Amino acid sequence: MILIVGGGSHGLSLAYHLHKMGVKDVVIIEKKRIGYGSSSRNAGRFRYHFYSKENVEFALKAIRYLESTAKELRYNALLYRSGYLWILSERHLDYFKKLHSLWASLGVGGKFVECREFDFLKAEGNCYFAPQDGAFHHDYILYSYFEEIRRDVKVIYGEVKGVVGEGKVKGVTTSDGRFIEGDKVVVTAGAWSSQIIPDLPIYPERKQIFITEDLKYKVKPLVIDVDKGAYLSQTLKGEIIGGVESTIERGYLPFTVSLEEAIKFLRIVRGLVRGAEGIGIMRGWSGYYEMTPDHSHIMGFSENWPEGLYVDAGYSGHGMMFSPFSGKLMAELIADGKRNKFFDVFSPDRFQKNRLVKEEMVI
Ligand SMILES: Cc1cc2nc3c(=O)[nH]c(=O)nc-3n(C[C@H](O)[C@H](O)[C@H](O)COP(=O)(O)OP(=O)(O)OC[C@H]3O[C@@H](n4cnc5c(N)ncnc54)[C@H](O)[C@@H]3O)c2cc1C
Repeated sequence: MILIVGGGSHGLSLAYHLHKMGVKDVVIIEKKRIGYGSSSRNAGRFRYHFYSKENVEFALKAIRYLESTAKELRYNALLYRSGYLWILSERHLDYFKKLHSLWASLGVGGKFVECREFDFLKAEGNCYFAPQDGAFHHDYILYSYFEEIRRDVKVIYGEVKGVVGEGKVKGVTTSDGRFIEGDKVVVTAGAWSSQIIPDLPIYPERKQIFITEDLKYKVKPLVIDVDKGAYLSQTLKGEIIGGVESTIERGYLPFTVSLEEAIKFLRIVRGLVRGAEGIGIMRGWSGYYEMTPDHSHIMGFSENWPEGLYVDAGYSGHGMMFSPFSGKLMAELIADGKRNKFFDVFSPDRFQKNRLVKEEMVI
């Protein structure tokens, strides 16, 4: 029996791929509801443009797979290439020049442009445009997976407290005193994963995100104002969606939003987007980025864990786009013992062995 702890995009993608491979006896254990976590609270964007070579390489594979997944799934994931546009101040230019060399060497170079080339933008100076990046609708991916598996994969509702088994996994215990038997346990509990495997260095950071009234569609790329720590983009319906990071909010804080943050975001939208001067905010919500010390994800198993225990978590705010690919790799590892090279790169043991995959581009 394979127990998957957490019904977010990574847990569902794994269950979907195991199901597709014909593996029976798969159970998802979910503490609240399918899609309770970050997988239904995110901005639905994808990008190749990371700081570390390893993450760009992972993105190259993962986005190709995301595209094929979007074609194969039941619901239309509305995937399109909108680009990412960074507004750069002088002090970021050299940093981006170095990144551009890396990106170009891997086939995803963008270009340095004058910000004023983008009519919708009230910004002067240097911008960097990466046309390869894009958007999709996370909910359609998540619920397509659920739709495909729900007849065959059982969902048990309960909060997993810990993994039982020394040397070899025997199952999990839940907070209401149940023992659920399984010879393989996969922790895909996002920002909560370290509550189940305490030596996993994953911690939550709350992020607030807002959406405005709709405006005629004009902001095609996702715009990042590097100095202000803000990002915004437009949905196909025309609303401006995004956030601004003013303080780092660590811990399992309530999923609320603050008026101050909403006002800050609104000022940025009104100040940057032509024609958005009088626009108002419709709603806001929050979710956790599941941060690791190097801001890269953790997948596979540890030499120090009991046999049969696996993890796929800690995506540090960029895990929705990676979930189809990681679910496929995890399913191949668990069902067939196939060990992709990325399991060494993103291993849970890299922290002890000091083989960090330092990622600075957390948006
Ligand atoms: C505001 C915001 C914007 C984002 N924007 C993007 C973006 O544009 N692109 C992108 O790729 N990513 C983005 N992300 C990140 C992305 O959403 C996450 O990396 C991804 O959804 C993580 O998926 P997951 O399945 O690992 O975790 P989650 O979706 O959080 O799922 C974890 C599940 O585990 C369950 N669970 C927790 N503890 C237990 C337990 N003890 N027992 C049983 N079940 C448990 C939870 O209830 C939850 O359902 C964003 C995140 C946020 C918050």
